[in-house]
Amino acid sequence: MTAEPVTTQQPAAPAEVPPTVRASLSPSRAADFKTCPLLYRFRSIDRLPERPTVEQARGTLVHAVLERLFDLPAGGRTPDAAGDLVAPQWDRLVTEQPELAGLFAEGDEPALAEFLRSAAALLEGYFAVEDPRRLEPAERESLISAVVDDELLIRGYLDRLDVAPDGALRVVDYKTGGAPREAFEARALFQLKFYALVLWRTRGVVPRVLRLLYLKDAEVCDYAPDADELLRFERTVVALWRAIEQATAQRDFRPRPSRLCDWCSHQARCPSFGGTPPPFPVPEPADPLRDARSRPAPPGADE
Ligand code: SF4
Repeated sequence: MTAEPVTTQQPAAPAEVPPTVRASLSPSRAADFKTCPLLYRFRSIDRLPERPTVEQARGTLVHAVLERLFDLPAGGRTPDAAGDLVAPQWDRLVTEQPELAGLFAEGDEPALAEFLRSAAALLEGYFAVEDPRRLEPAERESLISAVVDDELLIRGYLDRLDVAPDGALRVVDYKTGGAPREAFEARALFQLKFYALVLWRTRGVVPRVLRLLYLKDAEVCDYAPDADELLRFERTVVALWRAIEQATAQRDFRPRPSRLCDWCSHQARCPSFGGTPPPFPVPEPADPLRDARSRPAPPGADE
């Protein structure tokens, strides 16, 4: 699928949010609530810090390399060129997010070198499923948003959007995680439908393809949504938001243990693991768009 000239949209704060909007929701936070209401509370209400994991950092790095790769002229988007981007992009990320440096003990060059090699290996997986010399993405790491049900702003970052000459849209999401596929596939598809809904509501076009690229396994998973399905999905998102509002009003966020607990940073505070959640935070002055003013999880951070 070829596309229009490359553009990278990064609209910051939602400057033109209609006055009817009362809240905002990103696919990551919505998926948190679906996965485990207590996880949603820890992340979105308590805002407990989470130390980045090596796996998340690798995901962020690989996403950064793939984003920059498309800055190169088409003919130069080779595996070697991608490999050459790995170390400079890691240096840039560490400068922007100094906490990443703490993932490796000072002076532990072998561990860092192995980490960079593992990112390069994921990029090999990318080249096994796509030839970027034949692609011209329309958008990369693009922040998109739409208002649904008059009151809810939904927003998030696309990894990549391809637009065919006939206007057909393809949403592409890179998956770099090593977690079992079955544990995360439903969450990944939920996120892609979220983006599809935003694009449909803002551009009037149902994306033809939602594509997951699993770099570790060098596999492609395509899904074709339709308008009826997105309409049902919109109702699901609105119902989810209302459930979040109700849980917030009642301060009732229950743990829902699953295989994903293995990747949860908050087991020590989770009753399912013998922990106790902190006191429910004192509600801040009403600012329903607080989330909308913060940056949603960047591409790759949710691996
Ligand atoms: S450990 Fe599991 S049940 Fe507990 S908060 Fe995390 S995801 Fe939820």
